[in-house]
Amino acid sequence: MTADPVADPPKPPEHNRTDVDFRKPMPRPKVRGIVIDFHCHLLAHRHASAWFESARHYGIDCFLTMTPLEEAMGIQRDYPGKVNFIVVPKWDLSTTTLAQWLDDWRRRLDMFYNLGSRMVKFHMAPGTIHRRGLKLDAPELEPFFEAVIERKMAVMTHVGDPETWYTGKYADAATYGTREEHYAMWTGVMRRYPHIPWVGAHMGGNPENIPRLQSLLDEFPNLSLDCSATRWMVREISARRDEAREFFIKNAERIMWGSDQVSGDDRGFDFLSSRWWAHRKLMETAAIVPTPIFDPDLPEDKQPMLRGLALPDELLQKLYHDNAIKFLARIGATFDAWG
Ligand SMILES: [Zn+2]
Repeated sequence: MTADPVADPPKPPEHNRTDVDFRKPMPRPKVRGIVIDFHCHLLAHRHASAWFESARHYGIDCFLTMTPLEEAMGIQRDYPGKVNFIVVPKWDLSTTTLAQWLDDWRRRLDMFYNLGSRMVKFHMAPGTIHRRGLKLDAPELEPFFEAVIERKMAVMTHVGDPETWYTGKYADAATYGTREEHYAMWTGVMRRYPHIPWVGAHMGGNPENIPRLQSLLDEFPNLSLDCSATRWMVREISARRDEAREFFIKNAERIMWGSDQVSGDDRGFDFLSSRWWAHRKLMETAAIVPTPIFDPDLPEDKQPMLRGLALPDELLQKLYHDNAIKFLARIGATFDAWG
């Protein structure tokens, strides 16, 4: 029996539930110089052609990417000047002990450094801490911070996760800890290393609580935030659109734009485009539209509206370009092919 196309219309893909034509031209962001995606995951060389095709369409030129070391060299060779790698460990530690994994990570830090990397990422989301049994303030990580200081590098941390997860899959606080404990862990380490340039990924992991973000920025002058993660930011920035807009304007020098785009074998032009489309609508326009991307954190009948921030041009210039360039200059990183 074949499907009847009238009775059974094809289900729209989760990245495009509102039938957006992602191939429709969109003017480049109104930015002098390169547009930089400060937080993304181009995971493999074989994903790069779809990635750069979509990026070109949306006017995004250069990328701070968390690419596995094994894939980094080929991407750097074939897309020179487009990528700067953030130091990441092997994601999976199931085949090694924690000590072996840390040892491998420490060697990767130096190998990434030789490829031009100047920032080390610590993924300290509640689920990751639990799975690895490793906290940001663990003594085992002190040699990493010492290496960062010695090499004049920066740190990026992912601390916190969506509030919907704290009330959902992390509700068992005895297993996962509380949000307050996670932020105490983070600020404790930042107090220990006050001179390290630091990026709090995903709006410091708590876009739901803008006063918390303001007090973090006020206490830690070397802290910047990236505003990456598509569904999370669309949901939570839109939910408090005016408050978020004021925060962006007030902290114009302290936020870098990023997407948290993740490449994949099944992620072609349209999927990748949906992320950059949504981020650009959110930052640049006053659109109030249903988000094209399905948000699994909310029920079907409560899907978020995207409410654009319509940020002023001078601020977009900083978010997409100036702040990233200044941050990178402090740590000696560039988008030149061989840094
Ligand atoms: Zn990410």
